[in-house]
Amino acid sequence: MLIVFLGPPGVGKGTQGSRIATHLKAAHISTGDMLRQQVEDGSEIGKKVSSILEAGKLVSDDLIVELVESRLSQEDAKERFLLDGFPRTIFQAEALDSFLAKRNQEVTVAMLLVADKEEILRRLMARAKAEGRADDTPETVAQRLDVYHNQTKPLVGYYEQLGKLQRVDGVGTIGEVFDRLLKVLDESTSASESTSS
Ligand code: ADP
Repeated sequence: MLIVFLGPPGVGKGTQGSRIATHLKAAHISTGDMLRQQVEDGSEIGKKVSSILEAGKLVSDDLIVELVESRLSQEDAKERFLLDGFPRTIFQAEALDSFLAKRNQEVTVAMLLVADKEEILRRLMARAKAEGRADDTPETVAQRLDVYHNQTKPLVGYYEQLGKLQRVDGVGTIGEVFDRLLKVLDESTSASESTSS
């Protein structure tokens, strides 16, 4: 079960992603978390990316693809993973596909968590006020939403064309959304098993 988890910032991907991954015993790979960890560690990569993160822009495709590929090569990510925050560009999606193809694998399902614009803005502004993350200021929130619309949204069409896209309503309690996601995953797994047998 190789899951790509898509959705705009603020839709609840992080919360749901870690729950789903735990439930499926899959590696939860959040590129945002990985990058923030690098910054915290003060690594070379961290130094390179900290201002980009704070500005709400995307780090370079080459850098993130290399990070993700090395993470995916670890033992726990060989059969089951949930990717959260990657891919974010068509280039990254194609890089992921060719990486997986070399292992005779492909993405099982791309789940798109959706919510209306007002709800997203409300959540992001609440988070910005609570001063959670360095990139959660009102200015960078707007920037991150822009980046999502321009660079990441095209992935919806990309996975739709491959017949892998599933949309899930992200509005509701954490438990309600979780149940919806599990239902969609159940259906996708049985569908992919019946086509591969
Ligand atoms: P959000 O909650 O806004 O979706 P994330 O926690 O996933 O944000 O990522 C935080 C930041 O890390 C992004 O704004 C971006 O600067 C960087 N980042 C994360 N994943 C990627 C990626 N796949 N490609 C480029 N930059 C990324």
